[in-house]
Amino acid sequence: MSQTTYQIIDHEYDVVVLGAGGAGLRATLGMSSSGLKTACVTKVFPTRSHTVAAQGGVSAALDNMNEGDDWRFHFYDTIKGSDWLGDQDAIEYMCKNAIPAVVELEHFGVPFSRTAEGRIYQRPFGGHTLNQGQGMAHRACAAADRTGHAILHTLYQQCLKHDAEFFIEYFALDLIMDESGKCRGLMAWNLADGTIHRFTAHTVVLATGGYGRAYFSCTSAHTCTGDGNAMALRAGLPLQDMEFIQFHPTGIYGSGCLITEGARGEGGYLTNSEGERFMERYAPNAKDLASRDVVSRAMTIEIMEGRGVGEKNDHILLHLEHLDASILHQRLPGISETAKIFAGVDVTKDPIPVLPTVHYNMGGIPTNIHGQVVRGAAETIVPGLMAIGEAACVSVHGANRLGTNSLLDLIVFGRAAALHAKETIQPNMKHEPLPKDAGQETLAWFDRLRHANGTTKTGEIRLKLQETMQRHCAVFRTGALLREGINLVQDIERMMADLQVNDRSLIWNTDLVEAIELKNLYQQAVITINSAHYRTESRGAHARDDYPERDDANWMVHTQCTLTTKGDISFENRPVHLYTLTDDVAVVPAKKRTY
Ligand SMILES: Cc1cc2nc3c(=O)[nH]c(=O)nc-3n(C[C@H](O)[C@H](O)[C@H](O)COP(=O)(O)OP(=O)(O)OC[C@H]3O[C@@H](n4cnc5c(N)ncnc54)[C@H](O)[C@@H]3O)c2cc1C
Repeated sequence: MSQTTYQIIDHEYDVVVLGAGGAGLRATLGMSSSGLKTACVTKVFPTRSHTVAAQGGVSAALDNMNEGDDWRFHFYDTIKGSDWLGDQDAIEYMCKNAIPAVVELEHFGVPFSRTAEGRIYQRPFGGHTLNQGQGMAHRACAAADRTGHAILHTLYQQCLKHDAEFFIEYFALDLIMDESGKCRGLMAWNLADGTIHRFTAHTVVLATGGYGRAYFSCTSAHTCTGDGNAMALRAGLPLQDMEFIQFHPTGIYGSGCLITEGARGEGGYLTNSEGERFMERYAPNAKDLASRDVVSRAMTIEIMEGRGVGEKNDHILLHLEHLDASILHQRLPGISETAKIFAGVDVTKDPIPVLPTVHYNMGGIPTNIHGQVVRGAAETIVPGLMAIGEAACVSVHGANRLGTNSLLDLIVFGRAAALHAKETIQPNMKHEPLPKDAGQETLAWFDRLRHANGTTKTGEIRLKLQETMQRHCAVFRTGALLREGINLVQDIERMMADLQVNDRSLIWNTDLVEAIELKNLYQQAVITINSAHYRTESRGAHARDDYPERDDANWMVHTQCTLTTKGDISFENRPVHLYTLTDDVAVVPAKKRTY
């Protein structure tokens, strides 16, 4: 079959930001306001990005409750939460900059909830403590339980004010790399009119979010297919720490919709079939507010040992009915509505059925604290390419992210990327010509997929992939289970060769969009399950029954995994950064993690 000839429309920008979630918009705002000609390309309307669904809050040690909170406590908690896989320099940068970054959000106009004194309202969250566990900290700055919504809308308005240019409902396909390994731009498809676009830029910023949809039950939007991660893989770049998948303890049983940890922050608690508050056994101090990996494992053990609730004894109950109805109305209106719609539960009267559900990807594209993409143990900079937000792995979350640290990651490193661009790029700097045939290889696979005439539908293959990941690479893992999963994933590769795409048009072709997203999900699933098999220890969210202990001697390293064009994978390890940027704070030595 001969390939269609596609007309290409060219654009030149100082910077192109791919993604309009919290990370992409914060970077776009910083770049456009500093005079750089900035394009923001996004497959969904900016305020529909998954960030809009974030509920519980964004962390910063503002100490608005006058309890003596300090960013150094936040630093300690984040390192402990990461199970000592987080890079301590990056964590220092994030926790220290959290305070000005949140104040800046307030000044941009984010409508935070307020204390009686008119300060930003802060609530407790899992793993956030005062002075290394001496009490729970009120550190999550919240706009009721719709914090992401408030932040995203505010950032979008600020971007418009600074004349950022948006390419909305443009689906990015691939990066354009030159022979020297420099990123030169990207290829995108305009979903509305079917045209193909080639963007040239001095820097491309990947802010494409996570890939929760590689799993059957997840809290993330259907658009969370990790397209940027897959684009990095296809450009020959590694993905880091992909074995670390966060399961959130409280997805609604059946639908997977999230009930924020803020619900437990406001006083909610979990019980098993015996009505027991079992978290008291697993985490005597923090109880229901232990970190997410700890609570998810405890719930899974309760269910496995026969103490789950419901007809099939396969879930757990979350109680809020003892809380004052006015608190629920004021602080948790969103989840009260979600529980009504998706579980048929009136939270003022009955508990919500919940189950650990895939929520966040700790792994992603490796970067330094300026957002620059790096590769290998030597941390070689990939010129012209940055990554921020959930797509990136900077790594502040290590093996387990603390709640509210993602929204923080978005704004701190979105801002850092903009600062770096401002320092290194002059507005309207001249562009070198693009490599000959730039984008042609991309159009070749795009065209093949568009005309795929096999017999298996995208939805069928995707379901198989999601079920395989859910069963073989979940809360508890073993070498044998993972190996079986790897074999099943290889079967899925064969199914992909028999893919059927029915719609051949270029306009609003959701059939083709889903096929491309499946291609992307598949590549990340391969990396994730192989990375999980590779890491023979238990750390944070990665719990191996066959290697139940953390192994600092061998595994205090980030795993970087690359995919060759033939589909082979290779690993390289990179030591964790056990140093800080300044003398303001000391390195936290590894110790056993208990809550
Ligand atoms: C239900 C829920 C609640 C959460 N609550 C909290 C919370 O309270 N606090 C907290 O800290 N974290 C929370 N998180 C986590 C946090 O919200 C996410 O990690 C974060 O919002 C990700 O932001 P992002 O900017 O990296 O990506 P996203 O917001 O996912 O945005 C990705 C962007 O990339 C674009 N894109 C992707 N692929 C392409 C492509 N091929 N072409 C063009 N554009 C593309 C999309 O259009 C979109 O604009 C929550 C997550 C979920 C799912």
